Amino acid sequence: MLDQSEPIRTLLVRLIADGRHHAHAAAHSKAEELARVHEGFAAGFHTAAVYVADLIATGRVRAGQQIRAEDEAVAQRAADSLNVDPAERANAISDAIYGAPAEREHIGGNAEDCPGCAGTNPPYPFLCPGPDEAVQEVS
Ligand SMILES: [Zn+2]
Repeated sequence: MLDQSEPIRTLLVRLIADGRHHAHAAAHSKAEELARVHEGFAAGFHTAAVYVADLIATGRVRAGQQIRAEDEAVAQRAADSLNVDPAERANAISDAIYGAPAEREHIGGNAEDCPGCAGTNPPYPFLCPGPDEAVQEVS
């Protein structure tokens, strides 16, 4: 059971544990593609854990990669307006990271894998209309 009296330390434990989970899954995945996905998650959790650990140890997040001012502004807005509803909070963070549904690009193929189709519930057979949707001409 996590001691949640120190939220930021609880977060650090969670990030490290999630990273460890994905590193383990990457090492033991039978499917190469799935292993690469887990490696990506492990790397992301590692970076996040280092940010949080620095914050705990020094009170500051280390200077990392150059963050565009517009990206930081979007992140700040998302952090400043957390919804009471967990699903809405998660959606707002998705929109901040991937862009709102209207600005996401369709990639084609399985709609479940397409950021542009996320949340749109396309009809069976659940195929993304593809990247050319916006430029299709009416004949
Ligand atoms: Zn799509």
